[in-house]
Amino acid sequence: MAKNIISTALACGLTLSLIGCVTTAPHVATTKNYIVDSDTYQATGKSERIKFIVLHYTVSDNERSIKTLTTGNVSAHYLILSNDDNKIYNLVPESERAWHAGDGGFSGRTILNDTSIGIEIVNNGIKPDYRDALKNGELDYHPYDHYVEFDELQIKKVAELVQDIATRYDISPKNIIGHSDMAPSRKIDPGAKFPWERLYKEYGIGAWYDEADKQEIMSRRTLVAPSVQEIKQEFRKYGYQINNSDEWDKPSRDVIYAFQLHFRPQQPTGNIDAETYAILQALNQKYAGRDDFY
Ligand SMILES: [Zn+2]
Repeated sequence: MAKNIISTALACGLTLSLIGCVTTAPHVATTKNYIVDSDTYQATGKSERIKFIVLHYTVSDNERSIKTLTTGNVSAHYLILSNDDNKIYNLVPESERAWHAGDGGFSGRTILNDTSIGIEIVNNGIKPDYRDALKNGELDYHPYDHYVEFDELQIKKVAELVQDIATRYDISPKNIIGHSDMAPSRKIDPGAKFPWERLYKEYGIGAWYDEADKQEIMSRRTLVAPSVQEIKQEFRKYGYQINNSDEWDKPSRDVIYAFQLHFRPQQPTGNIDAETYAILQALNQKYAGRDDFY
């Protein structure tokens, strides 16, 4: 690899004055008979293709995660194992699509595999004792305690990796999301133990509300309780996909649960309550405006 770069640089140096040099723009076409000129005209209407970072957990150990993500029809750009070392694995080049997001959407976009970088973290997800907890119908959603902790080293690796990706692509804080945020009825990863608040406060990663805004919103006395539609509109405004029904049906509650996993992880219930709604409003107040849609 290093040798190739050196020989390309040498070749470029020698031919620079005759045909120009392509090493600074490797993603521009070259043709047999014609010069592709990328210097004379430049467009201003453009933006990065990568708009999201989607975080996942693998629900398996190192060995099985590696096998699944390297040999199957699912993949991710990066893999964080639970090994006590200094490595982060890159499985798919950032310029190519990894198959990690699937159906769903966020911030008005669908098919997030096209526009995101996916990061998988080795973690078991739900503790074995609670895996069947939802099946007997006693519970609708897993509480905080059912989720497995991440290793401290994994969080540090994720933090540095996300910082780097977010900076290079200038990714909006709101668009650093969990798989559950974009696919609330299918996915619950990276789960309630993923430390979004800490990543925001210690590393400046992602979005988080201001506590004072939340308190102020909660202290407002309103005569009329907000309607289901009003609350759903706030979810939509933030970026969540949510249906138009006038009730808190299961798909709508899945959105509330996904939001709580991210922004109020200690108490994820799938039910709207004053604090959850205040956090949502505080976020919309802080992160107003939409990203570019072109
Ligand atoms: Zn996932």
